[in-house]
Amino acid sequence: MQVLKLKNSSYDANAYLIDGSILVDAGMDAVSIILQLGKHTRPGELKTIILTHCHYDHSGGAREVAKAFGAKIAIHEKDAELLGNANASAASLFGEKAPSIVPDILLKGGEIFGELEVIHTPGHTPGGICLYNPVSKSLFSGDTVFQDGGFGRTDLYGGNTQKLIESIKKLSTLDVNVMYPGHGDIVDSEASEQIKLSLMMAREYSGT
Ligand SMILES: [Zn+2]
Ligand SMILES: [Zn+2]
Repeated sequence: MQVLKLKNSSYDANAYLIDGSILVDAGMDAVSIILQLGKHTRPGELKTIILTHCHYDHSGGAREVAKAFGAKIAIHEKDAELLGNANASAASLFGEKAPSIVPDILLKGGEIFGELEVIHTPGHTPGGICLYNPVSKSLFSGDTVFQDGGFGRTDLYGGNTQKLIESIKKLSTLDVNVMYPGHGDIVDSEASEQIKLSLMMAREYSGT
């Protein structure tokens, strides 16, 4: 599995191109993402944009990118319904309107895209997902966990700390070597250790 991290501005989410055919999150800056994608994939080759959750910094550019490449947009059904709401999608935080996206594929968890398995990881949002590749032992962790024991905030619309802890617990049972988070740097080895640290930190934060 070949993964390319696209360049973004500091407040924007990471977007990852996988084998030229899957884009994980689209960021907010569609023009920049389309230009970068144009060097590595083409219409017809990029098939699916999988959104890890509804937040604007991950989904804002999805509609334009999908249109430019003829790709389909997939998102968990629980976050699909939040996309059109400026508060729930956190678009208002970025001074933007809700992203007008009509998803093509509604996920529940358990779906397979190439070598990637969809794991429903609610807590940061109700329909947050992670994508796990058991062959390369890599995880696209969205805003559920980050490097150095970081974890997603739960004080936004639909956030739930107990659910987030359950989700991180689920992730901590996976064998993860490389982790591609929604923000910050890629963890390039022994990511399972960092996920366990995230679980500890989230438990400490919640006082459980
Ligand atoms: Zn984010
Ligand atoms: Zn988020």
